[in-house]
Order: sequence, then C-alpha cells, then structure tokens
Amino acid sequence: MFQDNSILCALNIKDNNIKNVSVCDSKINNKGVIKHIKVVKAELSYSLTRCPQCGKNTLVKNGKRITNQRLASFNGMEYHLILKKQRFLCKNCGSTCGAHSDLLVKNHTMTKQIKNRIFDMSRESFTLSSMAKLLGISASTVSRILYGNTKLPERSPYLPENLCFDEFRSVKKVFTFISIDAKTHHLIDLVHDRLSKTLIEHFINKYSLKR
Ligand SMILES: [Zn+2]
Repeated sequence: MFQDNSILCALNIKDNNIKNVSVCDSKINNKGVIKHIKVVKAELSYSLTRCPQCGKNTLVKNGKRITNQRLASFNGMEYHLILKKQRFLCKNCGSTCGAHSDLLVKNHTMTKQIKNRIFDMSRESFTLSSMAKLLGISASTVSRILYGNTKLPERSPYLPENLCFDEFRSVKKVFTFISIDAKTHHLIDLVHDRLSKTLIEHFINKYSLKR
C-alpha cells in the first residue's frame, strides 16, 4: 500500500482506486528500432452494485480487462500504463460495464494527464516536435490532440446582406479588421490590415459579386 502511494505520487496519479502498482523497464520494437520504455502495471477496481442500464442493485464483479494507456513522460521516455480494469455484469439485465477512472479518456489510449501536459506546454511556445520529444509521443499525436477536435467555422463564398465591421488591436499591436453578419452575429472575416486598398482587394478576391 505504501509502495502504491509512493509510485502513484511520483507519477502524479490521484486515483485511490488504482492499486497494486509496480514499475519496470521494458523494450518495444518500433519499426525495427528497439525502444526502452517504462511500464507501470496496476489494477483499477472498486465496488459497484447499481446497474447503469436497469438501475437495479444486481451488479457483480465479472473479470478484468487489460488496457494499455500512455502516461506523461518526465524525461522523454515512453511511460505505458498497463491497467487491469474491473468488469461488472448485471444479473438482472445481462449488460456489462467497466470500472472508470478520471485519469482515462474513454476510447483513447492517451490519458488526461498527457493531454493536459500538451495543453500546458502549447501555452509556453513549445513546438510540436519538442513537445513530442519531451513527452515521449509522436508529433502527429501531439498535433491530433491539439487540433483534432477543432471544428473550423464554415465560410460562405457570399457575403450576408448586412455586414457589421470594426477594427481592433490584435497580436503585436497590429490593427485587425473584423466583420460579422449583422443578423446572425456570426464571424465573417478577419483581415490583419486596416487599409481600404487591402480590404477592398481582399473582399473582391474572396467573395463573389453575384447574388
Ligand atoms: Zn442491469
């Protein structure tokens, strides 16, 4: 128990349901290159009786499932968390469910810990490749976590009937021209210039005069 707490504390994992923790060195073959990694083995288990499906107190423990999650690195080395997660079976409706931890993101191998570290580092001007190197993950994974869920606003090739516009001081004290749809208040465009010539050229080149 004391050893569990020490390892979890060193790894900055704050979930008391994660127990029987051990750490060992291991190797993986990454496209022909042998990589030295740290493997953290642990179990995630707690008591649960109420079925999330039928609501009856008829859940029983029903084996464990092993998952491989990635933890944030401290030294550029890969940290893998091999977690045995408790499964439950409902004796009333027959549905199954698994133990969950706040550390984990459903259907993702990257833990919240690694995601939070990426967001923290991105605020401090680290490049994608330097974040990947320090965290022991690929640059494409860092990019996917940072930009994967970003839904860019859809731009129309036509301008709305009524346009509101203004200018404001943005990054590095540059004046930026902003325009929005007067009716919906949706952003239409941002142009990092305030000169009429640039703005006219921008709008003529980008939007059709038809309609
Ligand atoms: Zn049930």
